[in-house]
Amino acid sequence: MTGGLEGYDAVAEANAQKSVLAIHWSRICERLKAEVGEVEYRTWLRQITVGPVEEDEITLYLPTRFLRDWVRGQYGDRLGTLWNAEVPAIRRVELQVARPGSASATPPADGAAAPATVAREEAAPRAAAPAPVAEEPRQAEVRSDLAAPLDPRFTFDTFVVGKPNEFAYACARRVAERPSSPGFNPLFLYGGVGLGKTHLMHAIGAELLREGRVSVAYMSAEKFMYRFIAAIRSQSTMEFKEQLRSVDVLMIDDLQFLIGKDNTQEEFFHTFNALVDAGRQIVVSADKSPSDLSGLEDRLRTRLGCGMVADIHATTFELRISILEAKASASGVVVPAKVLEFLAHKITSNVRELEGALNRLIAHANLFGRPVTLEATQDVLHDILKAHDRRVTIEEIQRKVAEHWNIRLTDMSSARRARAVARPRQVAMYLAKQLTSRSLPEIGRKFGNRDHTTVMHAVTRVTELMEQDPAFAEDVELLRRMLES
Ligand code: ADP
Ligand code: MG
Repeated sequence: MTGGLEGYDAVAEANAQKSVLAIHWSRICERLKAEVGEVEYRTWLRQITVGPVEEDEITLYLPTRFLRDWVRGQYGDRLGTLWNAEVPAIRRVELQVARPGSASATPPADGAAAPATVAREEAAPRAAAPAPVAEEPRQAEVRSDLAAPLDPRFTFDTFVVGKPNEFAYACARRVAERPSSPGFNPLFLYGGVGLGKTHLMHAIGAELLREGRVSVAYMSAEKFMYRFIAAIRSQSTMEFKEQLRSVDVLMIDDLQFLIGKDNTQEEFFHTFNALVDAGRQIVVSADKSPSDLSGLEDRLRTRLGCGMVADIHATTFELRISILEAKASASGVVVPAKVLEFLAHKITSNVRELEGALNRLIAHANLFGRPVTLEATQDVLHDILKAHDRRVTIEEIQRKVAEHWNIRLTDMSSARRARAVARPRQVAMYLAKQLTSRSLPEIGRKFGNRDHTTVMHAVTRVTELMEQDPAFAEDVELLRRMLES
């Protein structure tokens, strides 16, 4: 790129390229943040700096090999896709470890990007950005960065309460109001991935810190272990222990991580006892109940189960809708109810994925200034939706269609010809043709032994009607997307 003769112009051009890339990069960062969440973003992605573009490849730098490998493994493809969407000429992303002082374009939208962490623990006066856990720990970190910062978005206000999580929510609130009450210490929260355990723990922390009376330390069990190992290496275990034992509320997330890590478990057990004996509050989360966490020492499991054990159940359709509504309305982007229903039907696994999908939709709407529609949703979330696809059966189609028009399932095979019944039946046949690989005679048989010409007629009729009547077409489309192919 540097021409030599026109040295000045080349420098000017390189600078111009840098600032253009910086704009693209800050947009990509916004999207990444929306997709992966603030904490993930801050932990891994914020440390990326943008290097030069050569031909169709852009180089991104990370400060260490560990980070580089992690980001490559977890986000490599996504970074490629996002860059390509921003700058179509860029087709590949090369991740490199930055040499000190190497030219790098931009700290990604840093000031704006990093809302100051709310967590400001007394025991940990500086809440630096969380160090990637598997980095070679330095002694300084052990002293200064005892706990991880809290995500400011995870508060009680932003937690949507429904049947599956109301008990856990109530327990968390109670602990935040009156830490160390008998019967609530420890508080053990458990449930599947992405159901709100971390959210509730951060909410407890935020609430306590707002009151400002107590010191709070929150960290993942993984981080606990790395801190512990680092302390051993730097011969500062005493300090580490003292720090931990000086907090009023200690929260350890994802305790299942300690399975098989016997020494760390041992250390945690002692810390746990010391704190509880001193009347401090412990909050722990895990993916299973204490009794099901086989692999944890018995005496630890016993103690964990001594306080309040609260599980978070899988979400229901109603809860998913409420969560989506809350998040959509907080975003300020209008998302039609049909789209929310569609998402709540399709993405049932966990709230994180649901949220990720919605965030992507919202980011897309903001970026392109287009309204959110079912079509756009299908488009933008193509890859996510595909991952949630499954084979559709004719029975499922019949059930969904019957539910949609509020007719009896048996009418799918009955001889009744009333329009209110016949039309949905035709739609179900049409969808069966579209979404399954069954032949016309096979489909006919499933609909009360009807002839294949009846199925053919249904397909033609529904196609015609969809052309004539946009509302009808939308109904059928919605059903199709719910059932998905
Ligand atoms: P877990 O720790 O159980 O794996 P998280 O607490 O990280 O799950 O939740 C995953 C994402 O889903 C977070 O962004 C969180 O804010 C969101 N979330 C989960 N449950 C709820 C809820 N009931 N209301 C609002 N957001 C929720
Ligand atoms: Mg979690």
